Amino acid sequence: MENIFNFTKIELESFLVQKGYKKFLASQIFNWLYEKKEYDFAKFTNVKKETVEFLKNTFDTSFIEIAKVEEDKDVKKFLFSLKDGQKIESVLMYHNYGLSVCISSQVGCNMGCKFCESGRLKKVRDLETYEMLQQVIAIGNYINQKIDSVVIMGIGEPFDNYDNVIKFINLINDPKVLAIGARHITVSTCGLVPKIKAFADLGLQINLALSLHAPTDEKRKQIMNIANAYSLKEVFAALKYYQEKTKRRVTIEYIMLDKINDTQDDALTLAKLIKNYNVYVNLIPYNETKNIEFKASKQTQIDLFYNTLKKSGVDVTVRHKFGDKISAACGQLRSKEI
Ligand code: SAH
Repeated sequence: MENIFNFTKIELESFLVQKGYKKFLASQIFNWLYEKKEYDFAKFTNVKKETVEFLKNTFDTSFIEIAKVEEDKDVKKFLFSLKDGQKIESVLMYHNYGLSVCISSQVGCNMGCKFCESGRLKKVRDLETYEMLQQVIAIGNYINQKIDSVVIMGIGEPFDNYDNVIKFINLINDPKVLAIGARHITVSTCGLVPKIKAFADLGLQINLALSLHAPTDEKRKQIMNIANAYSLKEVFAALKYYQEKTKRRVTIEYIMLDKINDTQDDALTLAKLIKNYNVYVNLIPYNETKNIEFKASKQTQIDLFYNTLKKSGVDVTVRHKFGDKISAACGQLRSKEI
């Protein structure tokens, strides 16, 4: 049985019409699920008994389960158990501008970035749309508060699970589902060029972040496998295409790795590389993990890198570090469990 949370409104309408029901039934179902948070068809009081039976026999309403919660002062980390026993994780962050949830898009990841805990464990499978949607819903229900923004930056490469991720974005953006505004949704990719172009063609107003992490192909190849598939020239051509289509500014993510990519020279090369693009750079302090030998850059090195970019006219911020004390690095909580 397919999970009911996999369906967009339009998909559910056409499915129900095909089965001989009124289109309006989809609106009723969406209202129960997303407005009233009622997940038991038997309690849909405005739906006929026979129809309830049909729904029960047709759709799965099961939820992914919270297996563990780790907390720090401005962050909660959730380990979820999926129907087949696989584990994924999500992070809830309390920003001064609201609540944001970082979700996983795959069980494991095949991109093989050398510094990343998720990549170390390889992809088991893609997440279905409902498994992404329910991460946000379950966390909202757990804290009984509205989630303001969603970032697709947890375990997995979202553009390697493109169709399900796009459906997920459409659902959380739907005013009748989670009503999260496009500008409050961010998708982060290590740079799958054909998918960046496809995404540009959708013309969505959501935020795109590129995990760049190195200013030259040579350096990038040392830490990211994807750099063997697409050169920086190709990646930046795709970004240009994206910006022509959407007029949106792109975030460049740059992990600060000690003695790997954090010299002043690297900063100058980076400034040159992005000079003609409408981007801003987010420097990410590296979360060290015991299974991987990379070290975080020293604070003095981050400061120097930051100031060098600033002086070169680059818009740059350093990411606030959440959850140092808990297993905050992407994939750490899951890998601890396995
Ligand atoms: N695959 C996508 C999204 C998931 S990773 C991508 O590559 O963008 C989300 C971000 O976390 C990426 O920028 C990734 O490089 C970064 N990341 C991975 N491991 C990290 C760690 N240990 N510390 C800090 N950031 C990390």
